[in-house]
Amino acid sequence: MHAGQCGPHPAPDSVARTAEPNTITATLKTTVVHASLASRDMAASLPGALNSRAGWCTRYTPGVIYENVIDVIGRTPLVRLSRIHPPGNLVAKVEYLNPGGSIKERIAVTMIDRAEQLGLLEPGGTIVEPTSGNTGVGLAIVAAVRGYKVIFTVPDKVSKEKQDLLRSYGATVVITPTELLPEDPESYYGVARRIVAKTPGAYSPNQYTNPANPEAHYLTTGPEIWDQTDGRIGALVVGIGTGGTVTGAGRYLKEMNPEILVIGADPEGSIFTALSEDQVHQYDVEGVGEDFWPETLDPGIVDEYVMVPDAEALAMTRRVAREEGLLAGGSSGMAVSAAVDFADHEPDRLTVVILPDSGRGYLSKVFNDDWMREHGYEVD
Ligand code: PMP
Repeated sequence: MHAGQCGPHPAPDSVARTAEPNTITATLKTTVVHASLASRDMAASLPGALNSRAGWCTRYTPGVIYENVIDVIGRTPLVRLSRIHPPGNLVAKVEYLNPGGSIKERIAVTMIDRAEQLGLLEPGGTIVEPTSGNTGVGLAIVAAVRGYKVIFTVPDKVSKEKQDLLRSYGATVVITPTELLPEDPESYYGVARRIVAKTPGAYSPNQYTNPANPEAHYLTTGPEIWDQTDGRIGALVVGIGTGGTVTGAGRYLKEMNPEILVIGADPEGSIFTALSEDQVHQYDVEGVGEDFWPETLDPGIVDEYVMVPDAEALAMTRRVAREEGLLAGGSSGMAVSAAVDFADHEPDRLTVVILPDSGRGYLSKVFNDDWMREHGYEVD
């Protein structure tokens, strides 16, 4: 494919059988003009699992003016990390090039599409979500375009920039203590539940249980990676938070080629790689790792879990910015750190690592030498 071209993404056998080729071909015209990854029109007009995405376009498409910013979500580029990993078999999917700066816009639009289709969210309603920031931005973007109000609960470890960012889109932000367990009524989950209960017309997408979260990645992230590598991908490395990315993209890619390995990167202290409860503790990298197993994670999709200490993740985040010119967040550095190790040991596999968000949200943390020293990290 050349820049500006659009085309269908191949469907796994199971999906292709349920799809009607004529409908899909006809809908590609719609895709070119309204290139939404999950527009309501397309969702209504397409069958089965292809209903959110009939095809794809590169980000620049001659003659196309997008109807709104939601239509610009997705279709992010793959960039080879050849300075950090000279053998050349490691490439990054640069998700911070989404219009709101992160991968989570993909799930925001799919979750709201589904809520509208199911009648869970009515016009003028309020979206309430516990979010560490990126899902909030995605939801705030969808809310702005479609006329919803938004309230977010955010743990206090989340950077000030991220809190301000949510407010900039017109959202109400409620700050909660980080250290509380999810079942605690004052935790960010508990406070969100309370707000939903007392707000008329409120709907909480709940990214930790919503099947539209992994579905978004099954419909968009996975197919894009398959297309962009011409099916040559040998391994996918993803940091795990809700598990939506690894589950959805990993499932699609394994259906296309069961030989593809899926590696889950996890911060030291998170439950996914902890051997016992007393190994679960706080860590500095944001957006990844959990202290519970989310429903949106299918642990069977992950072939190998890799634990990455904060110091390694943060050092790699700074290297990615300085050596590759990619200003990504700490969870990206964490995933790249795991991916470099993997790609070293598997030189014949083309390894794709996801960079979920931008480093601009962390200028006062990982990219600030004083913050790094105060938190006991080395500064080069
Ligand atoms: N990195 C960042 C910065 C995130 O915000 C998230 C989402 N929590 C992830 C990685 C992990 O993605 P997922 O929730 O799909 O596992």
